[in-house]
Amino acid sequence: MLRRVAVVAYHASPLVEPGAGDAGGMTVYVREVAESLAELGLHTDVFTRATADSRPVSWLAPGVRVLSIDAGPRAPISKDALRTYVGDFASGIGAFALGQRVRYDVVHSHYWQSGLAGLSLARAWDAPFVHSQHTLARVKNQFLAPGDVPEPASRIRGEEEVMGAADVLIASTDEEWRQLSCLYGVSHDRLKTVHPGVDHDLFRPGDPASARAELGLGDEAVMLYAGRLQPLKGLSLALRSLERLVRELNRDVVFLVVGGASGEAGEEEVTRLRALADALGVADRVRFLGPQPHARLPLFYRAADVVVMCSHSESFGLSALEAHACGTPVVATAVGGLSHIVRDGVSGFLVDSRDPAEFAARLRSLLEDDGLRASLSAAAVHAARRFSWDATSAALFELYECLVREGWPQACTC
Ligand code: UDP
Repeated sequence: MLRRVAVVAYHASPLVEPGAGDAGGMTVYVREVAESLAELGLHTDVFTRATADSRPVSWLAPGVRVLSIDAGPRAPISKDALRTYVGDFASGIGAFALGQRVRYDVVHSHYWQSGLAGLSLARAWDAPFVHSQHTLARVKNQFLAPGDVPEPASRIRGEEEVMGAADVLIASTDEEWRQLSCLYGVSHDRLKTVHPGVDHDLFRPGDPASARAELGLGDEAVMLYAGRLQPLKGLSLALRSLERLVRELNRDVVFLVVGGASGEAGEEEVTRLRALADALGVADRVRFLGPQPHARLPLFYRAADVVVMCSHSESFGLSALEAHACGTPVVATAVGGLSHIVRDGVSGFLVDSRDPAEFAARLRSLLEDDGLRASLSAAAVHAARRFSWDATSAALFELYECLVREGWPQACTC
C-alpha cells in the first residue's frame, strides 16, 4: 500500500523563496506537488542539503516535512562542487530513515544529482524509483545562449546514469518526452508525461488598475519578465525589442524585470543586461526590481500588459503559466514548454526567431490594441485552466500506486 514517498531535492530546498540563485521553478514544483500529494493522504518527506540556516525538520503543511541532511559545508556551494557530497547526502538520508524506522514506498528525485542519491536509496530500500530531470544538459548545450557556460560531460554522464536506472522518468511536456527518448535513448515504456501546474487560488485575474497603483505605475504600457536572470533566459532580446518599442509605440513603455542572478554566469549576465540597456538608450525604461516573494508575483502579472519570455530553451516555464492564470498574455520564443503553455495568436504570441524586429512587432500589435489584449487575456485564463497542481499530483499519485502494486513500471506508463 502507498503511504509514504521520499522526495529527493538535494540542491533546491522548497523552503527557499524562488527567483534567484538555485531556487526557481523546480523549487515551486517540489513544494506544490508535496502539498497536493499530502492532501491525497500521501505523507511526503522532502530531503534537502542542510545549509547555514536550515532546521533539521520543518513542516511545510500537514503531512509534508522538509528534512535537512548534512552533506558538505553548510554554505552555498557551486553546482559542480555539489557532486562531491551526493554520497554523504544519500548516506545521511539512509541513516535518518533507519534511525526513525521510516519506510518509504517510492523514491522521487528532482535534477540529476538528486537522482544519483535517489538511485542508491531506491536500491537500498527496494522501492520504485521515479525521476524528474527538469532541465536536460544536452538540450541546454544544443541551444546554448551566448556567454553561457556549456554543461560539463560529468553532468551528462550523471544524467545518463540516472536515466538508465530510473523505473519511470517524468517529462513535463511531450517535447521533453521526445528529448528524453531521442537525446538520451530512454525506452518509451519508462517515460511518462505529467504537466506541471499552477496555484489558481494565488494566480488569478485581479484589477490591473489597483495592481498598478500599488506598484507606483501609471497608464504606460508595462512589459514584465519574472524569473531568474541567466543567459539561458535570453533577455537581451527583450531589451532590443524594448528599444524598438520606445521608438515605435504610440504610448510610453516600461519594462519590469523581477528576479535575481542565478548560476555561474548570472552576475555577469545582470551586468551585461544593464550595460546593454544603457547602450540601447533604454536604461530609464527598465526597472531591475530584484527577486520578489512568490506570493507577491500576482501583483506584477496583473499590473503588466504583457509578460515576455525569450528563453533559448525552456523545459516548462512556470512564469508563463502563472501570467496566463492572472489573465496576462505572453509573448515568448517558441521553445520547449512555452510552446505548450502559450496558444499562438490566441493567448499570446510565439515567435520562431530571435529577431528583435519580429518580437517587437508582436509586442506592438498587442500593446496598441486594447481589444486584442482583452481577447488574449480572456483566452490566457482559459488556457491556464488546463493545468493545476491537483492534476499533477493526481497523475503522480496514480503512477506511484501502480508502481507499488504492479512491481513493473511498463504497466504504469501507458
Ligand atoms: N519567481 C518568484 N520570484 C521572483 C522571480 C520568480 O517567486 O522574483 C518564481 C516564479 O513565480 C516561478 C518561478 O520563480 O514560479 C520561475 O519558474 P520558471 O519555470 O519560469 O523558471 P525556472 O526557474 O524553472 O528556470
